[in-house]
Amino acid sequence: MALQRALVLERQHELTIRDIDLPADTGPGQVKIRIHTVGVCGSDVHYYTHGKIGPFVVNKPMVLGHEAAGTVIEVGEGVTHLKVGDRVCMEPGIPDPNSRASRLGLYNIDPAVTFWATPPIHGVLTPEVVHPANYTFKLPDNVSFAEGAMVEPFAVGMQAAAKAKIAPGDTAVVLGAGPIGTMVAIAALAGGCARAIVADLAQPKLNIAAQYQGVIPVNIREQDLAEEVSRLTDSWGADVIFECSGASKAWETIMGLACPGGVIVAVGLPVNPVGFDVSTASTKEIRIETVFRYAHQYDRSIALLGSGRVDLKPLISETFAFEDSIKAYDRAVEARPTDVKLQICFEG
Ligand code: NAD
Ligand code: ZN
Repeated sequence: MALQRALVLERQHELTIRDIDLPADTGPGQVKIRIHTVGVCGSDVHYYTHGKIGPFVVNKPMVLGHEAAGTVIEVGEGVTHLKVGDRVCMEPGIPDPNSRASRLGLYNIDPAVTFWATPPIHGVLTPEVVHPANYTFKLPDNVSFAEGAMVEPFAVGMQAAAKAKIAPGDTAVVLGAGPIGTMVAIAALAGGCARAIVADLAQPKLNIAAQYQGVIPVNIREQDLAEEVSRLTDSWGADVIFECSGASKAWETIMGLACPGGVIVAVGLPVNPVGFDVSTASTKEIRIETVFRYAHQYDRSIALLGSGRVDLKPLISETFAFEDSIKAYDRAVEARPTDVKLQICFEG
C-alpha cells in the first residue's frame, strides 16, 4: 500500500482530491498502469448524489471511476502478453476465477466479483493502479486513450447486441439515447442491424445519436413511437427492442413494438419492479434477454474500434483535467442534454 492522490467520495454529496492509501505492489499476474483517461459514468454520479445504488452503500471513503485507459509501467511475474509501454484499457470487474459462474463463462455475474468504484472497492481516479493482466487489454495504435476509456460502456452495448442474437438486416428499436442507449445502437448496427430507431424525449441527445448512419431518431414528445415503428416496418414490428432508458414507463408499451418472434433486451435498470405484459409477450412468443455489464466483450469492442467501423469520439462531450475532476462530477450532476460522456484526463 502507498499514499496516492485520488478523487475520493467521502460520503454522499462530498468529493475531495486527497491522498489515500491504495495498493501499490505489482504481484504475480498483475500489471501496474499509469492512468491516462477515466470516463464519468452514471453510476459514479449516482454514488455522489445518493450515496448508494441498491444494496451497494458508500459507508467509508471510496475512490471513484471505472472507465479507464492508460499505459503499463510495471509487469508482474508470469505476465507474457503485456510489456512496459503498452497502451491499455481495463475491465473493472474481477471475478473469482474458480467460482462456478466463472467456470461457466458467466464471470460477470459471479456473486464474488469485485468491481471498481462499487462499494467497498476503490475506483481508479488516481495516477497509478495495479490490476490483473488478464483483465487488461492492449489498444491498437489507432485507438486513443479517450476511446480506450469508452470501451467499458461500449462493452455493455456489445453484450446487449450479442444477447439479442441479431440477424443481418434486422430492425432495432433503442429506448433511451443516453450514453448506454447510443452505444447499444452503435453496437447493434455494427452487429448487422440495418437500422436502429432510437427514441428519447431529449432532442439534443437524439441529434447526437443521429450522427451515426442507420440511426432513425424519434422524439417521443412529438411522435408516437408505436406508430413510427409500425410505419417503418410495414405493421410487422421491430426484430429487436433494447430498453436502455431505465424508465419504468418504457415497459408499459414495449411489447407492442416487437414483431412476432422478436426479442426484448433489458439493459436499463429501473429502480423499482416494473409491470410485464405477459399476454402480449406470449402471443408473440417474444424472447426476453437481460444484460449485466459484459463478459468476453473487451476484445471485440477494441477490434471494432481498431477497424475504424465504430467511432465513439463524437460521444465525448468534454474532457476535464484531474485537478478539475470535482467540477466534472458537478457538471455531470447538471445533466445537460447536450452532454453524453464526460472524461477526466491525467495528462495534458
Ligand atoms: P441516462 O440517464 O444518461 O440515459 C437515459 C436516457 O433515457 C435519457 O436520455 C432520457 O431522456 C431517456 N428516457 C427517459 N425516459 C424515457 C422513455 N420513457 N423512453 C425513451 N427514453 C427515455 O442513462 P445511461 O447512463 O445511458 O444508462 C441507461 C440505463 O442503463 C440506466 O438505467 C443504467 O442504470 C443502465 N445500465 C445498465 C447496465 C447493465 O449492465 N445492464 C450497465 C450500465 C448502465
Ligand atoms: Zn460505467
